[in-house]
Amino acid sequence: MTGLLGVSEALGRLLGEFSPVDKISLPLGETVGRVLAQEIIAVIDLPPFANSSMDGFAVQSQDIARAGRDHPVVLQVIEDIPAGQIASRQIEPGQAARIMTGAPIPSGADAVVPVEETSFNDRRPGQPAPAHIEIYHPARPGDHVRPRGQDIRSGALILLPGIRLRPQDVALLAMLGMATVTVYRKPRVAVLSTGDELLPVGIAPQPGKIYDSNALALGALAAQYGAEPISLGIAPDRAEAIEACLEQAADLQADLILSSAGVSVGAFDFVRTVVERRGRLNFWRVNMRPGKPLAFGAYRDVPLIGLPGNPVSAFVGFEVFVRPALLKLAGLNNLIHPTQRVTLAEPVETDGRESYLRAVVEQHPGRLIARLTGHQGSGNLLSLVQANALLIVPSEVKSLPSGAEVDAWLFGTAYHQF
Ligand code: AMP
Ligand code: MG
Repeated sequence: MTGLLGVSEALGRLLGEFSPVDKISLPLGETVGRVLAQEIIAVIDLPPFANSSMDGFAVQSQDIARAGRDHPVVLQVIEDIPAGQIASRQIEPGQAARIMTGAPIPSGADAVVPVEETSFNDRRPGQPAPAHIEIYHPARPGDHVRPRGQDIRSGALILLPGIRLRPQDVALLAMLGMATVTVYRKPRVAVLSTGDELLPVGIAPQPGKIYDSNALALGALAAQYGAEPISLGIAPDRAEAIEACLEQAADLQADLILSSAGVSVGAFDFVRTVVERRGRLNFWRVNMRPGKPLAFGAYRDVPLIGLPGNPVSAFVGFEVFVRPALLKLAGLNNLIHPTQRVTLAEPVETDGRESYLRAVVEQHPGRLIARLTGHQGSGNLLSLVQANALLIVPSEVKSLPSGAEVDAWLFGTAYHQF
């Protein structure tokens, strides 16, 4: 098909125009979900000191090498060591100290005997330590001791930049004592709807008009992928009005402008014209369905992705092009969309363009089964609402029989690694 770029070529050209936004420093408590922009190297050992993994008694293991239920070894208890406190005395032969989980191992001791293996199995709060203890079980050096540096050695490389910080990552940074972390700031995405027919929700219906749904979908998608959406509202189908909105986006220092509609070949499609006049058009029209009239370029120096107006086309165009662009802007390393192989429960026909079909994917024993959700027209939002996945039929493939396997993007899972 002349004039149409293949999806992967278009994506390659588009991604080449993006690089990560600036880095900022944030308090650790605000960094979950943010993209790490620094290497994390441990500056301390973890655990930072040898400590007990059980509530019990710290001992010299050689004292109790032959201990058993029938022939307990009696030790003198010289101290009580709660978590958070350093022992004041050294353990000598014949001695023990009561110790709590997480408390530092006293010097002289090399093992911990859990309370269950002693005559003092009383863990009610406030119980004082006994003066003597019978030990019922032998211990080897190191038993129930978490040595210093067991988990992490100072100097170890823990995390590389370009990942989104998860709760467990932030927990580890806290363990390392990091109060602030360098992350990427959120990309700013300006969202513009164009069309004389559009009304914002909240206004009474008018003849010939429809409500603007793209702005909400695109703003929400951008936010889901970690960006900060900026609403530019609705521009009528006039070059000057569109240009005024794009000026505003550039003045607001948006990292990306997302427009919808006005990029077809209609007499009122001005987005492309304005981009060509005040910036540059990189490509226009992609060999995909839905979403063919998709434009990419820059307005002044701000990258602009002109999505088609039809709501499903705009959504698919977002998933295919905007998502990876946003992730790259955000500083993430992995731009690949998580993909599942699914089995078609029915035959599928397309027109030979790379097709993104709305479907319900269900887990069956050993495989995922996919069924299309009704009308696949690019304006039919209901079938997208009923879907939980997009099936991807490659270009050139015009029909697939029931039982064939295709790639699918499952909604929901895509966001987990955003
Ligand atoms: P266009 O790309 O301008 O030819 O628009 C294609 C179709 O998408 C038309 O039916 C428009 O009414 C519709 N459309 C355009 N923008 C929006 C929007 N923001 N929300 C819902 N539908 C839209
Ligand atoms: Mg229009």
